[in-house]
Amino acid sequence: MYVYDTDNIFAKILRGEIPNNTVVETEHSLAFHDINPHAPVHVLVIPKGPYVTFDHFASEASDAEIIDFNRTVAKVAEMLEVTPGAGHGGYRLISNAGEAGVQEVPHLHVHIAGGHRLGRMLSPR
Ligand code: 5GP
Repeated sequence: MYVYDTDNIFAKILRGEIPNNTVVETEHSLAFHDINPHAPVHVLVIPKGPYVTFDHFASEASDAEIIDFNRTVAKVAEMLEVTPGAGHGGYRLISNAGEAGVQEVPHLHVHIAGGHRLGRMLSPR
């Protein structure tokens, strides 16, 4: 059972109540720059639908939403030239889920990070 909080900050961005620096918008997805970037390229991709986590989205979203979301992630990586064959030479996708995953905003988002050589994937807690 997933409970979606309609007051979360990304829901407000989707409703146009808070501005964002959009990279690309599609029928089902929105990509925008993270307000507090941890890498030279740090973009968030979110579905427009009310999904809390990746597992929520993957189990309940329509095929059209899932295809659109994945293609948008790939499109953003290409647009910002972080795909392995492009100028920045690679990227990392991160999607934090739940308390142990240290998810701050309870609306599914994938972080696309790149633009320089990234450090180790996880640090010790
Ligand atoms: P999480 O920890 O949930 O995986 O990541 C949430 C991300 O959302 C953080 O990297 C944070 O900087 C970003 N963020 C939080 N509030 C805003 C906002 O109002 N605008 C933008 N563009 N990013 C935000």
